[in-house]
Amino acid sequence: MKKLLIYPNQYLKRIAPTQRVPIHSSVIRKMKDVFLSVKAAGLAANQIGLPHRVIIWEHELMVNPIIRTMKDPLESLESCLSLPGQQFLIRRMNKIHVCWLSPDLQIMYDTDLSGLDACIVQHEIDHLNGILINEKVLQTS
Ligand SMILES: [Zn+2]
Repeated sequence: MKKLLIYPNQYLKRIAPTQRVPIHSSVIRKMKDVFLSVKAAGLAANQIGLPHRVIIWEHELMVNPIIRTMKDPLESLESCLSLPGQQFLIRRMNKIHVCWLSPDLQIMYDTDLSGLDACIVQHEIDHLNGILINEKVLQTS
């Protein structure tokens, strides 16, 4: 099974390029295996060293996810499997509208998400952009 990469592994800083060819089923299987074994809320492909613009979370596998609109800022206390044992208070948006493609790139989906679901998807898309939550900590002075 693929191993989860831990900060400061530099692969986590890599920006996943837009997926232009279908995602092979073996990639999906590798992501699902790790996702289920670590009991994650979500997982981005680059967290297990795969160069694909794909995230997985409880409800969906999303290829090339894009947040089209967002509103209602909130403060979110988050942890990350790539930053074990730590929590960070960061700013997210409570409501997002997100679009993504199916693994074969043939179908585009979109949905509104709010609350925890919205935060998870924002967290995972940040991973695809090489951004970890320890870089987004709110100043608490
Ligand atoms: Zn994370």
